[in-house]
Amino acid sequence: MSDAGEPRLEPADRFGPPEDDIARLWTPHRMVYIGGQDKPADSTPDECPFCRIPAGDDEQGLVVARGADCFALLNLYPYNGGHLMVLPYRHVSDYTDLTASETHELAAMTQTAMRVLRAVYAPAGFNLGMNQGEVAGAGIAAHLHQHVVPRWLGDANFLPVVGRTKALPELLADTRARLAAAWPTR
Ligand SMILES: [Zn+2]
Repeated sequence: MSDAGEPRLEPADRFGPPEDDIARLWTPHRMVYIGGQDKPADSTPDECPFCRIPAGDDEQGLVVARGADCFALLNLYPYNGGHLMVLPYRHVSDYTDLTASETHELAAMTQTAMRVLRAVYAPAGFNLGMNQGEVAGAGIAAHLHQHVVPRWLGDANFLPVVGRTKALPELLADTRARLAAAWPTR
């Protein structure tokens, strides 16, 4: 027993995993997401992180590129390294409500995002798409966002399928800096 006031030290193996042969990857950022930490309290622009982010600096908001009507940022809860989102500045939920100019720039920035990701990370493919409505899986349904998810052969192995775990080899700040540097200036 230690004296009062001193931290009580326990051998680390008392807190280890059970005796098995399974390696564990700790992904606490997913638990934050499951816990709903960043989930807006309602669907108003005041509660919307996508409305707040463009007012701040690019590093803080993980913004990769800014256009006239749309911007691109890294997903804070990526499915894969380099998982980007392209979205309008305007707080709009439905794809059919975009203006012609927003629609065009969203498409053009999606193409640029693919080119930049190919140049930097050489993915073998992509998943592109928008979840329209919470029922369809949108985390922030009130402000539409197009996902651009680079894919590599074998990236959907047993880890995400069975373990609900993704191994992400690079910090988001480093990914953002690399993609922002590779994004063509207009
Ligand atoms: Zn918004």
